[in-house]
Amino acid sequence: MEKTIFQYSSSGRTGVALPLLDVPETPVTARFGRKETIGLPQVTEGQAMRHFVRLSTMNFNIEEGLYPLGSCTMKYNPRLHEFLARIEGLAVVHPLSDDSTVQGTLELMYKLGESLCEITGFEAVTLQPAAGAQGEFTGLMLIKKWQDERGQEHRNEVLMPDSAHGTNPATSTLAGLKVVSVRSDEHGRVDVEDLRSKAGENTCAFMLTNPNTLGIFESSIDEITKIIHDAGGLNYMDGANMNAMLGIARPGDMGFDVCHLNLHKTFSTPHGGGGPGSGAVCCVEMLKEYLPPSTVEKTDEGYKLLGGTGNTIGRLLAFHGNVGVLYRAYAYVRTLGPKGLREVSEVALINANYMKARLKPYYDVPNDDGPCMHEFVASGAAMAEKGVKTLDIAKRLLDYGFHAPTIYFPQIVKEALMIEPTETESLESIDSFIDAMIAIAEEIDTKPHLVTDAPVNTPVLRLDEVKAVKDLCLVEPVEHQ
Ligand SMILES: *Cc1c(COP(=O)(O)O)cnc(C)c1O
Repeated sequence: MEKTIFQYSSSGRTGVALPLLDVPETPVTARFGRKETIGLPQVTEGQAMRHFVRLSTMNFNIEEGLYPLGSCTMKYNPRLHEFLARIEGLAVVHPLSDDSTVQGTLELMYKLGESLCEITGFEAVTLQPAAGAQGEFTGLMLIKKWQDERGQEHRNEVLMPDSAHGTNPATSTLAGLKVVSVRSDEHGRVDVEDLRSKAGENTCAFMLTNPNTLGIFESSIDEITKIIHDAGGLNYMDGANMNAMLGIARPGDMGFDVCHLNLHKTFSTPHGGGGPGSGAVCCVEMLKEYLPPSTVEKTDEGYKLLGGTGNTIGRLLAFHGNVGVLYRAYAYVRTLGPKGLREVSEVALINANYMKARLKPYYDVPNDDGPCMHEFVASGAAMAEKGVKTLDIAKRLLDYGFHAPTIYFPQIVKEALMIEPTETESLESIDSFIDAMIAIAEEIDTKPHLVTDAPVNTPVLRLDEVKAVKDLCLVEPVEHQ
């Protein structure tokens, strides 16, 4: 078992050298003084450094290898953008600063907003939401407010396909709306007739991930959004998969009224790991007055942070969103420009289609009736019949040095493997992942125990993942010293 940092502790060791006191010493009043020592580990700087660097090598990361976690767009993000976001004048601004002293930050936010509107085909934007799911909630609240203001409070249903991302029903429920599921047709697209039969006088909104969670573009999109508009509802696009469409297609041109983007997928901040994110929301002009406060406006006296109109849905978060993520997104958009952004998506599509074509002789790809978008969903159902489950395949990939794809999602595909290579992988790394997948398919036929016993090369073997979440233990209990 790996030692915790506390187990290296030895009384009197220290890893800091504080400067000499150059102000008069003042005792801390009893009220603020500690009653007992805090019990921090007493280690040298070298011990702390080695401990944490060793731990970091026990985990998988995008700097180490391909990370094809479908729907998460785990691309490699340029280090230059990390550097830019850390420029002192940007990184240390205080959210309560007077507008006149943070013109640079406000200008970047304003111009990022403009770019995102251009990319999505919308007129207004809020950069406040901290995640994709919070962006969805924001968008639904905008739509609900618009319905309420028009005397349509009774409209309480959100229609969405059965392939919807899990956050879609969750945020609809949180917004006080009822989820109505729409069937997918035999190709994995929205069943337009089922949608037509369910759209009506209770429809508040339609919510669609496009390309959908099967990696397929909804080809009847004009018809779908028109059915909803004719029924009196508005259309919400979950734009977390925008990495497939940059510079190629715009939700605003497809009849959508609101859309969120995951800046921490598509625009140069890593997804996952619990770090800060941004679920920026773009919308049509008529919804602008309902946006949360902290939008930036350009005036004759410079950039100004607005407090929200009297009609705002209100604040979702303290202050103005995760500004560091916005700096990275702005750097990304401006470094690539319109042509570069389009190329991002084109290469993401080519990489996914190449992978699908090479893997198809070995893995079933249901709903495959043409090119996929930036990801595709394979099924391990045939292998499960031989006694090897998708979970085993995912674990075996770790032995080959790859992160696993997303598994068991979307739920409409049995034993699903959702694979998204992204545009930043080289042909060599894509080929070596494919070779590993093919080798595993062959092992399943010849030496299945290699797969069912995997992983054997990782610091920990099979974990009880449910117990690990419910019974989280980050450090061994220690005695206070
Ligand atoms: C990632 C994702 C979301 C949610 O984004 P979070 O930032 O994780 O809340 C929503 N929809 C789709 C399709 C996604 O891939």
